[in-house]
Amino acid sequence: MITFELTEEQRELKALAHKFAEHEMIPRAREYDLNATFPHDVCAKAFEAGLMNFQVPQEFGGPGLTTLDSCIIFEELNYGCAGIAGAIGANELATLPLLIAGNTEQKRSYLGALTAKPTFAAFAITEPGAGSDVAAMSTSYRRDGDFYVLNGVKHFISNGSQAQWYVAFATADRQRRHKGVSAFVFPADLPGISRRRMHGKLGQRAGDTAEVTFEEVRVPASGLLGEEGEGFKYAMITFDHSRPSIGSIATGISQRALDESLKYAKQRSAFGQPIANFQAIQFMLADMAIEIEAMRLLTYKAAWLVDQGQARSPLSAYAKAFAADACMKITTNAVQIFGGYGYMDEYPVQKLMRDAKLLQIYEGTSQIQRVVIARDLLKL
Ligand SMILES: Cc1cc2nc3c(=O)[nH]c(=O)nc-3n(C[C@H](O)[C@H](O)[C@H](O)COP(=O)(O)OP(=O)(O)OC[C@H]3O[C@@H](n4cnc5c(N)ncnc54)[C@H](O)[C@@H]3O)c2cc1C
Repeated sequence: MITFELTEEQRELKALAHKFAEHEMIPRAREYDLNATFPHDVCAKAFEAGLMNFQVPQEFGGPGLTTLDSCIIFEELNYGCAGIAGAIGANELATLPLLIAGNTEQKRSYLGALTAKPTFAAFAITEPGAGSDVAAMSTSYRRDGDFYVLNGVKHFISNGSQAQWYVAFATADRQRRHKGVSAFVFPADLPGISRRRMHGKLGQRAGDTAEVTFEEVRVPASGLLGEEGEGFKYAMITFDHSRPSIGSIATGISQRALDESLKYAKQRSAFGQPIANFQAIQFMLADMAIEIEAMRLLTYKAAWLVDQGQARSPLSAYAKAFAADACMKITTNAVQIFGGYGYMDEYPVQKLMRDAKLLQIYEGTSQIQRVVIARDLLKL
């Protein structure tokens, strides 16, 4: 049977996250964006409010929420500020490989650290020479007694300069492409690890994006996640689980763009009347509302499928591709509705448009989502 009702617990979570966005994020978002300040204080408050590490199981100190619950929270936090929400939410991406392939000791140690106090973790797969083509990675590992020794550079890593631990991917033999890749979890303070925050982002500037370098880093053998040579598979399953979240980020940003546009269209006058009277403006608002409802439903369905154990469904890619592209269009039209003011940073829509762009790029670009979808359709 199909039901479109949220449970009482989900409605409460949504209200809590929305209130947090209104009180703790929106008032600070512009300043944090302009100064590219990492929002330590807001993250600490989110942690206290139970709005971090949603999917960590209760036995490791987390709330053990479902993917759908997480999406409901993410939508509201991203209504507030996608940059700050990114800082709060990046732990989820690092958590997933542990839930997928970690053993009990790894979960207890690393997930337990996240829930004990406000700390960060990062998922490091992208490299300067290998983004969409993950299997082309050159970060290498070799076995040396009770250790794996890692060498290489990861970049564009969310919370990479803040993380207390990493899930990182490396290859035993680059020629073997995806078959050579393994996943490791290890503390960020091991000798040989250096990191630096990367600057000059278009949007989501409050979030941390970093380059992380591994130079003869000796990871204890207990840091291998799952089976050797299965790292590529774990990364792909991680993305299947995480892509609905990008749909929810897009929904939050888009809903904010619509709400700001509605307010402005009613108060701004041209030719002696509110611009909301012009059909050209009304149609943009109507299209926004249609697309937001569609992306929310697609995101919920993709998240629900993940929660039913059907994460390999292409719906996660549908949700990410559709929501990211629609969000870009919606936020661009929000700037249009604001006219010249929309182009300036005095109003929030310019930031929404800049923040939206990342959704078409990370965790698989909009093109890569279509590659995934087409492969499924064509059974390739
Ligand atoms: C702010 C930010 C945060 C990020 N956070 C993380 C993180 O936490 N962890 C992490 O590991 N990575 C992270 N990333 C990296 C992100 O996932 C990659 O940037 C993304 O996967 C694209 O890789 P690329 O930048 O190397 O682009 P490329 O792979 O070089 O792609 C360039 C262009 O070619 C297109 N293209 C490539 N291959 C194909 C194909 N087969 N068919 C059609 N078109 C194709 C792409 O769609 C794109 O338009 C982040 C990136 C940014 C900008």
